[in-house]
Amino acid sequence: MTECIFCKIARAEMKAQVIYSDEDVVAFRDINPQAPTHVLVIPRKHIPSIADCAPDDLPLLAKVLQTGAKIAEMESIRESGYRLVLNAGPDAGQAVNHLHVHVLGGRKMTWPPG
Ligand code: AMP
Repeated sequence: MTECIFCKIARAEMKAQVIYSDEDVVAFRDINPQAPTHVLVIPRKHIPSIADCAPDDLPLLAKVLQTGAKIAEMESIRESGYRLVLNAGPDAGQAVNHLHVHVLGGRKMTWPPG
């Protein structure tokens, strides 16, 4: 069993505000929200980063992204807009080595990101 905190959340061994889950993915509220809506979508499978995605993982990756769009609907930010963010590696500030997509919305975003 992996010690990864997001694996623990996926296995319900660690508390999180889970708002959606199915056999492949789990979505939960970020513990340190950067926008009115800040949800993380993860695959249940432990993939450290997008850089580690194998060709066989692509359908799962597509589902993670599609779930991000579903969360935006659930959070009523489809029309106002939202951002899906996937950090990979140190320069991007990836802090948790379990692939995750941030769903951010509910406020005006700036570009380029910091
Ligand atoms: P990243 O910098 O892309 O790796 O983002 C990791 C995100 O995970 C950060 O936004 C953290 O606030 C969030 N995070 C870390 N631990 C938890 C946790 N136990 N529950 C919910 N969100 C978490």
